[in-house]
Amino acid sequence: MYAPASFAALLFTFALTVTASAQPVTPALQGEAAGLAQEALQDELAYELVTSLTTEVGPRLAGTEAEARARAWAVARLRELGFSNVREEPFELPVWERGLEQASIVSPFPQPLVISALGGSAATGPEGITGEVVAFPSLAALEQADPAAVRGKIVFIDEVMTRTQDGSGYTVATAKRRQAAYVTQAKGGLAALIRSVGTSSHRFAHTGQMRRVTEVAEAEGVPAAALSAPDADQLQRILSGGESVRIHLLLTPEQRPAGKSANVIAEIPGRERPQEIVLVGAHIDSWDLGTGAVDDGAGVGIVVAAAKRVLDALPEGPRRTVRVVLFGAEEVGLVGAKAYASRHADALANHVIASESDFGAGRIWRFETRVRADRVDAAQALGAVVRQLGAAPGGNTATGGPDMKYLREAGVPVVGLKQNGWDYFDLHHTPNDTLDKIDPEDLAHNVAAWVSFIFLAANSGEYYR
Ligand SMILES: [Zn+2]
Repeated sequence: MYAPASFAALLFTFALTVTASAQPVTPALQGEAAGLAQEALQDELAYELVTSLTTEVGPRLAGTEAEARARAWAVARLRELGFSNVREEPFELPVWERGLEQASIVSPFPQPLVISALGGSAATGPEGITGEVVAFPSLAALEQADPAAVRGKIVFIDEVMTRTQDGSGYTVATAKRRQAAYVTQAKGGLAALIRSVGTSSHRFAHTGQMRRVTEVAEAEGVPAAALSAPDADQLQRILSGGESVRIHLLLTPEQRPAGKSANVIAEIPGRERPQEIVLVGAHIDSWDLGTGAVDDGAGVGIVVAAAKRVLDALPEGPRRTVRVVLFGAEEVGLVGAKAYASRHADALANHVIASESDFGAGRIWRFETRVRADRVDAAQALGAVVRQLGAAPGGNTATGGPDMKYLREAGVPVVGLKQNGWDYFDLHHTPNDTLDKIDPEDLAHNVAAWVSFIFLAANSGEYYR
């Protein structure tokens, strides 16, 4: 139906389109971005930052004193590097901390198992729990099981994660980690064990969050832990003999109702359109088992070092504001991401484009977008130099990274500088996530890609929503 209002809307859209196409990514801008990327291939700052963070702070679990020290480290380093408006934006959250974690097969062949409690897991009590094991090939099989088969038993879900370059196997595999404790509880089971969500064959268990830490209190679930892959194999072999297998499990984590976390923010103020924001993120918290080098010390190093290069290249500032956000409490359920989105709800319309580096330290192989359908080419222009560095153009279904969830849902356009994730889940959330796993040249390659993206996004005048 024709109405004056829709005519006005049409005019408005026309005006927006004219504005949007007025300042595209020009060949001159692209040339400057390529020059910055070339220099960044020699970058040493990103590696120095990851080294410093993982050495001087180490593991930094959400809501703990260690995460607070990581923020103090970040604030000091960002100020020293010359960023503006460096600050913490605090929020509260429930805090879960790991205690003792031990498991062993009691019968028929007594032997120890390597496990790791899942984030948010309930405790077994100081005496632990002993019970007979009932195995399921998948979460779906447990969901369909008769409660009589589960009641009074220790559930074991033996579902293998698929290794993929884009990490797509992870989303599928995490369902069992997120749900096992609650489904087991609903069916009267004693505890839940899962094959680690990971692709390694080393003897480390992969931890990870069950429900978001903000939702754990609502339904505590049974005590839950991940087995290392070789231990899951071993258990499966013993079970295949048809004998009854009994396991003893001891987990003594503690849950506190309230603790403090914060996002750390730093900016390069825009010289022409300071209210327009190009947001680049990483997360400052990590799991407690390793030193969080690959997840996500690498991301912190990459985005800070890349933004620093833009700062140095443009003493008067880019046209738009570049905002670096180091999110707190990502691992336990994107708590910092949610806090950021609600605190800045009124300004999200001014967030021109956003992205997070949170997939390790491997090289970038794809540049993808999630923007308005008719703005895809314009957004892909922001990846022109990233493609020169070897990345392929991706589709328009980017997530932008875990901490971009709420921004994306609020309509903020995102891009993904996708890293090769073939090996990422070998280390992910294990004690083996340490600095020696990062290749400094690969890290510099990331900085080169990110500096070109940030430079182009902050100096073009285009919109993507
Ligand atoms: Zn991460």
